[in-house]
Amino acid sequence: MKIDKILDEIDELGEAHASNSAETPLREDAFEKSDLEKIELIKQDVNRIMQTLGLDLTDDSLKGTPQRVAKMFVNEIFSGLDPKRKPKASTFANKYKYGEMLVEKNITVYSTCEHHLLPIVGKAHVAYISNGSVVGLSKMNRIVDYYAKRPQVQERLTMQIVQELQRVLGTKDVACVIDAKHLCVNSRGIRDIESSTVTSEFGGAFSKKEVKREFLDYIKLDTTF
Ligand SMILES: [Zn+2]
Repeated sequence: MKIDKILDEIDELGEAHASNSAETPLREDAFEKSDLEKIELIKQDVNRIMQTLGLDLTDDSLKGTPQRVAKMFVNEIFSGLDPKRKPKASTFANKYKYGEMLVEKNITVYSTCEHHLLPIVGKAHVAYISNGSVVGLSKMNRIVDYYAKRPQVQERLTMQIVQELQRVLGTKDVACVIDAKHLCVNSRGIRDIESSTVTSEFGGAFSKKEVKREFLDYIKLDTTF
């Protein structure tokens, strides 16, 4: 076996290991129930929480809430748990031979903190340097959105976005910065309206100081149209 091939395989093993560490903890049986079964069960659970709080579920304004919340959990805010909904990984040949960094910035992030089930709202900035293939720009937004629609911690979300783009593009040279507000910090507990959390993951060439600097400078550009 050629030494290059062996090195590639070691790289792949390393990648697999790294991606395991950033995986959302799901049980083996996570997808045995259908979405409809999940909605029905969650509806009963939300009903029980509201009953326990002493709310009158015969009230017109409240009676639809358990059903609404259950549908929202399964079909919207936690829909990214289901691998069936993962955006298709289509890439194109880099025909223009564009060899510089491509940055997609200010991608809106709506996620949910897995510790309090309260919203995380912010912006993601994603970049890569093509090694021969490119992705459609909206694909980057879709990948961010897919991983955001899970119970999350921001660090894991950042890593999952980078690892998925590395896989799709076949290069390590991918980076992501997320700046987000956590409503569990802003609206309860310490109630700090102003604070936001910044996380970053710099793969491959982005760990070099000047490449990282260039990416961060692009993010700082105040683009208005
Ligand atoms: Zn939280």
